[in-house]
Amino acid sequence: MKIRNTILLFGILSIITLIAVQIIIVKGIWDQKDEMFNLRYRLYSQDALSMMSRRWSTDGFDTARLVVSRFSEQAVQEILMVKEDSSVAKIKGEVLEIVTEILNKEQDLSKFLSDYFGRQGIDKNFKYRIRINRFDLINADTVIPVYMSEEFANRINRRPPPQGQNASRPAPQHISEIYVRGDRTEDNNFRWDFDYFIDFTDKQRVILKETSASLGMGILSILVVVILFMITYRNLMEEKRLSDLKTDFINNMTHELKTPLSTITVAGRTLEMPQIRSNDDKILETARLIGKQSIHLNQLINMILEISMWERTQFQVELKPVQIEDLMNDIVESFKTGCGNCAAVNRKFNFNGAKANLDTVYFTTLVNNLLSNAVKYCETEPIIEVEGFTEEENAVIRVADNGIGISRSDQKHVFDKFYRASSGNIHKYKGLGLGLYYVKRIAEAHGGDVSVSSKPGKGSIFTVTIPYLN
Ligand code: ADP
Repeated sequence: MKIRNTILLFGILSIITLIAVQIIIVKGIWDQKDEMFNLRYRLYSQDALSMMSRRWSTDGFDTARLVVSRFSEQAVQEILMVKEDSSVAKIKGEVLEIVTEILNKEQDLSKFLSDYFGRQGIDKNFKYRIRINRFDLINADTVIPVYMSEEFANRINRRPPPQGQNASRPAPQHISEIYVRGDRTEDNNFRWDFDYFIDFTDKQRVILKETSASLGMGILSILVVVILFMITYRNLMEEKRLSDLKTDFINNMTHELKTPLSTITVAGRTLEMPQIRSNDDKILETARLIGKQSIHLNQLINMILEISMWERTQFQVELKPVQIEDLMNDIVESFKTGCGNCAAVNRKFNFNGAKANLDTVYFTTLVNNLLSNAVKYCETEPIIEVEGFTEEENAVIRVADNGIGISRSDQKHVFDKFYRASSGNIHKYKGLGLGLYYVKRIAEAHGGDVSVSSKPGKGSIFTVTIPYLN
C-alpha cells in the first residue's frame, strides 16, 4: 500500500510538473506570437497610413476636421452669449459629445485601414477607439477650454506638450490595443488632441491558430506521458499482485508440506520405540499413516511440478469420446465415498446420452476440485447440487453449494493462479490457490470454460461448459 501510494504520488507530481512546464512553454510562445502580432499589425497600420497620405494627400481626419471647424464656429458664439456657469457647462458637455460623434463618423481612416488589411489578406476585423485628450474652442484670441482628460493634464503638467505631432506613444487602455496615430490640430475655431487605437477582435483566434501546433504537441506529450504512466502503473501493480500471490503461495505450500512431513517424522520416531516394535498392529497402523502422508506429500509435489510444466508447455489432454452422464455419476460416487460421505450431494443429470471428448483423468480432477471446494468452504452441513444438461452445443455442469460464498471483487480473480479469496484468514481454510486455476485450465483444454456466480453468505454456483459430440 505504501509503495503504491508513493508511486502514485510521484507519478501525479511528475505529471503536474510536466503540465506546468508545458503551460509555461505554451504561454511563452503565446506571448511571443502576441507581440509579433502587434508588431506586424502596427507595421501594417503605419504602412496603410503613409499610403493613405501619399494617395489622397489626406491623413484620414480631414473630413472630421472640416465638420468640427464649422460646428465650433457656432458653438463659440453660443457660449459667448450665455452668462450662467451652469449653462456654459451644459453647452460644453454637448459640444464634447457632438465632437466625439463627428470624430467617430466623419473619419476616413477606419474604412481605409479595413480595406487595406483586407487587400493584404490579413485580419481586418477590428474595433477602433478614439480617445480625446483635449478639446478647446477658439475665438479670435480667446480659448474656451471644453474638455481635458486627467491623464493628459498630468502629462502636460510634467513636461510641456510637444509641438505638432506627439512623439511619445500614449498607453493603450487594453493590452490588445494598438496605438495607430494621434492628431493634434489647431484651427481658427478649435484645438483638439486625441489618440486613435485599434483592437483586433479576432486576434486571439489568429494567435490560437498560430500556436495550435505547439499547443497540440504539448497536449499530445502530456497525454502520452499520462497513458504511459497508467500502463506502467498498472503493470507494476499487477507484478506486485503476482509477487504477493507467489509469496502467499510459498507460505501456504510450506505450511501444507510441513504437516505430512512432521507426521512422517513423528511416525518414524514412534516406530523406533521398543513398545511399538513389539506390537504388530501399531506397526501396521503407523506404516499406513506414513504411506498415506507420503502419498499426500507426493500429490503436493506433483501438483507443483505439473503447474511449472504447464507454464512451459502447452497443456496436453488425451481426449476420447465418453458418456458424460456415466462419468459424472462415477465421479460423484467416488467423491462421496472418498470423503466419507462428508456432504449431501444431490444430482440432476439430463445429458440425453450425450458424449463428449474428454480426458477422464483431468476431467475427474476438475469436478473433484469443485466438489471439494464446496465442502471446504462451507461452515454448516454441506449440501451440494450437481446439475448436468446439454444446451446448444455444450454440455453444462453446474455445482452449487451452500457455503460461505465469494465476494464480487474476488469472483474476478478466483480462477487466477495462486489466488486465495480468504487471504485475510489464510490458515482457516487450507489451500494453495491452485484448485480453480486447474479447473479453468482443464475446461479450456477441453474447448470449454468455467464461470462463477456467488453471494457471500449464501453459496456459490460454478458452471462448466464443454462442447459435446452430436
Ligand atoms: P484454494 O482452495 O487452494 O485456496 P482454489 O483455487 O480452489 O484454491 O480457490 C481459490 C479461492 O476461491 C479460495 O481461496 C476460496 O476463497 C475461493 N473459493 C473456491 N471455491 C469456493 C466455494 N465453493 N465457496 C467459497 N469460496 C470458494
